Amino acid sequence: MERTPNSLKEFDIPFSGLKVGLHEYEYTIKQAFFDSLESNVVDESDLHLIVQLEKQENLLTLFFEANGTITGACGRCTQPVDVNIAFKERLFVKFGEENFETEEIVTLPEHAHSINIAEILLELITVHVPIVIVHEDEDDCDPTYLEYLTGESEEEQTEEEESDPRWEALKKLKND
Ligand SMILES: [Zn+2]
Repeated sequence: MERTPNSLKEFDIPFSGLKVGLHEYEYTIKQAFFDSLESNVVDESDLHLIVQLEKQENLLTLFFEANGTITGACGRCTQPVDVNIAFKERLFVKFGEENFETEEIVTLPEHAHSINIAEILLELITVHVPIVIVHEDEDDCDPTYLEYLTGESEEEQTEEEESDPRWEALKKLKND
């Protein structure tokens, strides 16, 4: 496993000393979390996470429950949009040499005694962030930026069509 930055040490769960049963952990996920993992999936974050670890003899099960908001740039006007995030997920942790990993299962080495869940959390949050973030109501978009963006893109397109020699050649070909 890769080295964990100090800022992500709080996501270490040393499970070997835990009793069989349920154990609960709470995290507040701010932007610094994403920065530490060099992720730019969101611009701001205020997420509350409850992680429950169920320890059995040869299996760990992690239950995740997230609630809160993230902020991203609107795809139409580039201004910030808050998005509510709420999800529940479950992940099985198995032990052994085989690298049998799916979306629901991670494998740790036989003698592992702790797991750092930072990367797992990042992955879970990332899949729950909408691919396209936009103001739900177009009227909420900032008109200044909207006009600016639309104006620019139209201009760019025309310019491209006019100046691209391949386009000219194609047009000529069609006309002949
Ligand atoms: Zn917008």
